[in-house]
Amino acid sequence: QSTALLAAVSGAGATADGHAVPLLANVGGPADIAPALAAGAEGVGLFRTEFLFLDRVDPPTWEEQQDAYREVFEAFSGSRVIVRVLDAGADKPLDFLPPPAPEPNPALGERGVRLFRRFPEVLAAQLEALARAAKGTSARVQVMAPMVATAEEAVWFGEACRAAGLPSAGVMIEIPAAALRAADLAAVTGFFSIGTNDLTQYTLAADREAGALAGLQDPWHPAVLDLVALTAAAAGGSGRDCGVCGEAAADPALACVFVGLGVTSLSMAASALPRVRAALARHTVDDCRRAAAAARAAGTASAARAAARAELPALA
Ligand code: PEP
Ligand code: MG
Repeated sequence: QSTALLAAVSGAGATADGHAVPLLANVGGPADIAPALAAGAEGVGLFRTEFLFLDRVDPPTWEEQQDAYREVFEAFSGSRVIVRVLDAGADKPLDFLPPPAPEPNPALGERGVRLFRRFPEVLAAQLEALARAAKGTSARVQVMAPMVATAEEAVWFGEACRAAGLPSAGVMIEIPAAALRAADLAAVTGFFSIGTNDLTQYTLAADREAGALAGLQDPWHPAVLDLVALTAAAAGGSGRDCGVCGEAAADPALACVFVGLGVTSLSMAASALPRVRAALARHTVDDCRRAAAAARAAGTASAARAAARAELPALA
């Protein structure tokens, strides 16, 4: 217990019985660096790079991107920094990456990694900037692709990363097909990061932007938990890391459930780190596993939440 209590103060995430769970920060630009460091983030689990591409008529050159990446890498020197390449389309449309025809269902359209098949030069410039920025720092830079649905996409992305001199490539698990066939993806990629915002949207077929459907955008839904469990099991079976970087990781009870399902790291807004760190430090891995099993045995999202909380008595 004393190791865990020390970790709760010093910043390293761990359960009460000393099982390490790195707690990482979601970063959307340089302004997020200081709060992440102040909250004791052990690295960056999701560096969203869209800020460099928004409100422009042309994509930024690699030279323009390099400085912004270096700033984050230097702030987290010695730590893991997982960079997500541009996730445009759907809720993040960009003028210089227009769809070939109007998309009636943008969330099901050409977004994330799919866009790079038609605009490979945009990915190449970003990877070049990342490789050059990484070279001068000691951050452990990893790169991941958003909205990966198939093993072919994962292979294609991994090859592009290797060609740019970035050997550590992974994929986000945000699409049910990717979660259901996570073992196929684990065979061809380096790591997983589960994006629960999109995974919930696509599992419940409920647009995350539609306020009227907000009740369905609930990551406690047992169907979402089942997909997280499948993904974590496939990752574990292949010796791959499996993080969660969606907003759900910021819910202390759900964070414990994810650990119980086999998730190996959690990434969240800096403001959520202290409460998640405290929740983990007060529960053993077995507590987390019991909470996960109880949640998956429930028939609804609200029953899953209640069942998990009943197994996590030390939650604040
Ligand atoms: C997610 O989908 O959970 C995620 C982390 O990505 P974004 O919210 O940027 O789509
Ligand atoms: Mg997403």
